[in-house]
Amino acid sequence: MDNSEKFFANRDCKYYPCHEGIEELNCLFCYCPLYHLKDCPGNPVFKEKDGGMIKVCINCTFPHRAENYDEVIRILRGRDWK
Ligand code: SF4
Repeated sequence: MDNSEKFFANRDCKYYPCHEGIEELNCLFCYCPLYHLKDCPGNPVFKEKDGGMIKVCINCTFPHRAENYDEVIRILRGRDWK
């Protein structure tokens, strides 16, 4: 897949590919813009730490899948904020 406004593969990054099992890994949302959402479309795990809860996304590939670009943008536009 060619780089575009919806897709970017930074194959020079020392962590690339940061997730296995994705043929076309999109680096555009390297830092997931949905992290602030408790009910995001990914598969986070919530862990207790120092008396609080932290969201752990290490096994989530949702923002890196090229086909999910439009869904990420749709959520960011505010239609499904929870
Ligand atoms: S990386 Fe996945 S689990 Fe973490 S906030 Fe983004 S969509 Fe949700």
